[in-house]
Amino acid sequence: MKYEIENKHRLTGRELDLPQRLLLGPGPSNPDPRVLSAICADVIGHLDPAFIDLMREIQELLRYVFQTDNELTLPVSGTGSAAMEASVANTVEVGDVILIAINGYFGQRLAEMASRYGADVRKMEKPWGEYFRLDDLRRGLEQHRPAILGLVHGETSTGVCQPMDGLGDLCREFDCLLLVDTVASLGGVPFFTDKWGADIVYSGSQKCLSCPPGLGPITFGPRAVDKIQSRNSKVPNWYLDMSLLTKYWGSDRTYHHTAPINMNYALREALMILSEEGLEASWERHQRTAEYLWDGLARIGLTPLVPYDHRLVSLTTIRVPQGIDAKEVSSRLLNEHNIEIAGGFGPLAGKIWRVGLMGFNSQQENVDRLLHALNTLISN
Ligand code: PLP
Repeated sequence: MKYEIENKHRLTGRELDLPQRLLLGPGPSNPDPRVLSAICADVIGHLDPAFIDLMREIQELLRYVFQTDNELTLPVSGTGSAAMEASVANTVEVGDVILIAINGYFGQRLAEMASRYGADVRKMEKPWGEYFRLDDLRRGLEQHRPAILGLVHGETSTGVCQPMDGLGDLCREFDCLLLVDTVASLGGVPFFTDKWGADIVYSGSQKCLSCPPGLGPITFGPRAVDKIQSRNSKVPNWYLDMSLLTKYWGSDRTYHHTAPINMNYALREALMILSEEGLEASWERHQRTAEYLWDGLARIGLTPLVPYDHRLVSLTTIRVPQGIDAKEVSSRLLNEHNIEIAGGFGPLAGKIWRVGLMGFNSQQENVDRLLHALNTLISN
């Protein structure tokens, strides 16, 4: 049989040729080499007993990283935003009041998602670069009496780390679930899901977990599970419906969707590396490397945007000095030095650079390389 093939979109004979970058932006960060070799292992079936064992290991390791005993803990197939969407899709019912504390871009995204699931979204806003005090949040809960309070632990758009002290108790006092985004912080910055009383916590694989993007770890505590089980309506998102996903990730092991097998190899390896290092050691390494960056910035005349006490150690935002074109510097860093950092956006566009020291990349030699290149570029 003869086919009339249109060849105009056909490409042949070009090998994949990618630059070797040092990823010091807000994510992804460079995965640990062990993770890159794990992802290359051959594919096995998503119901193969060996894969089921691996799923169990991932869930156990995620419980360690989230510091939780929550049964319902798994990696959503998708990036951090998929986990964010899963957090909202499962717990929000039409008309539920959800209060979102917004001090940057990702809080806004959370509010946008909740509104698409029919929530009655109430917003508490702070200028980008600030954080919420416990009193601010208490006032918000008193005024809005929400079913859920959502906030971002590590706000990647601003470099602020939201203090969590007392929040779990506060939410219990108001009978409200505490939903927390830890996409930019989990594994690199202290977070205790159970001790801090967080009910729904999600993250992403590509930042402090040293893995490529593609999986969104999530955990639901008992109060969140109660809310899911007492829903009056089906979760309006089939792919992210936890009641279906738990049949695959729980004891039934029945097919829901074909798990991204190799991404799960990668996540398993990344979590194993983190577990071997130990969470506390990882948090301390992230803190040490960030302090090393902050000292170095001071030496070359640059200042962080966020005051010391609320700085996110995994992502530092740096004020762009007067007269310097932020975009030109980051482009030259990429093109001449193979180092990726990011600029600011929204109200911080052109005003800051964003430097991530996350997971495997949180090492002093990376800071040395960045500071040397940055200094050359801003002094010329
Ligand atoms: N939340 C925060 C704090 C983030 O930094 C990001 C990504 O940068 C996301 C959510 C969304 O994650 P993803 O881009 O993996 O979908």
